[in-house]
Amino acid sequence: MIPMVDLKRQYHNLKKEIDAAISDVLEQTRFILGPNVSALEEEVAAYHNLSYAVGVANGTDALLLALRACGIGDGDEVITTPFTFIATAEVIALLGATPVFVDICPDTFNINSCQIAERITAKTKAIVPVHLFGHPADMAPVVEIARKHNLKVIEDCAQAFGAKYNGKKVGTIGDVGCFSFFPSKNLAGYGDGGMVITNNKKIAEQVKMLRNHGSAKRYYHKVIGYNSRLDEIQAAIIRVKLKKIDQFNEARRQNAVYYCAAIKSKDIILPTTISDNEHVYHQFTIRAKNRDVLAGALQQKNIASAVYYPVPLHQQEVFLNLYNVSVKLPQSEKCAQEVLSLPMFPELSREEIRFIADVVNHAS
Ligand SMILES: *Cc1c(COP(=O)(O)O)cnc(C)c1O
Repeated sequence: MIPMVDLKRQYHNLKKEIDAAISDVLEQTRFILGPNVSALEEEVAAYHNLSYAVGVANGTDALLLALRACGIGDGDEVITTPFTFIATAEVIALLGATPVFVDICPDTFNINSCQIAERITAKTKAIVPVHLFGHPADMAPVVEIARKHNLKVIEDCAQAFGAKYNGKKVGTIGDVGCFSFFPSKNLAGYGDGGMVITNNKKIAEQVKMLRNHGSAKRYYHKVIGYNSRLDEIQAAIIRVKLKKIDQFNEARRQNAVYYCAAIKSKDIILPTTISDNEHVYHQFTIRAKNRDVLAGALQQKNIASAVYYPVPLHQQEVFLNLYNVSVKLPQSEKCAQEVLSLPMFPELSREEIRFIADVVNHAS
């Protein structure tokens, strides 16, 4: 079986360092907001050349706390993409705001920045671009529109740690960047984890307060907050992997090169990288008209594949029920019918890629 991601292979390669890191935490017994969380925060801030990084419980909370720290709340509108994981829009709704979905560019699967301006109203407070599958969203127009209309930009970087747009790392272009360390992400722990990065001191302080029951000083509470701290054991594990993240991302890019050379079928649309971007291939996602046939053929040969995402968010039951509006976002709807993600992880071998590509070529 070739899985979508083989976490065991990576663990075995890093076993000595990871086991030592975990056992260190157990010996130190500082389990909540201990030295590994602070060290990881400093290391992630330094990696991005930003002043602040705040560890939180997961990527969803990173978005939730960042949006709240940006002042998003009741009655506000937040522009985002419908072609993403539910969490991106869920947090907007959780804060009493309304997600406003803008269609995507089918080549990158990211928000179509040309269509943002027409959706701005007096209630619009923020834009949440998602760097889906590891390809940066088209940030220059997003930032320009945001500046013009005085909107905050919160980047959903859950799938794109280390990706670059015009030489700038994602998460450093808008006001705030939000990361997830869910086990299958490019940079990950062995459980849930997340982080918010920013150069804005106020936002960083707010997120720090919100993650710890609304308190900056122990037992003194300023606002209603959350219990949303990054776990110390996860931080220790992620620190080991952070040292290798550029190497891991490079291996993913190399694997994408192998895939693109080996998949020859004319019926397949391969992923592309827009110039001046550095893709990190969280997913290697192709498009095919006969997508389901292809998935079946792969399964026959014991190769995993996955559909991210089968239903765009504007068509999800939850949002149809909540807002009772039906919009047509044709590119998102088309991509949802055609996308198929193939196995992708740094340790995937060239032989495995050739084998997968052969099955794809024969089935399409
Ligand atoms: C994984 C993911 C999230 C949520 O992260 P969790 O750590 O699972 O809460 C948010 N947005 C996107 C695009 C994701 O892929």
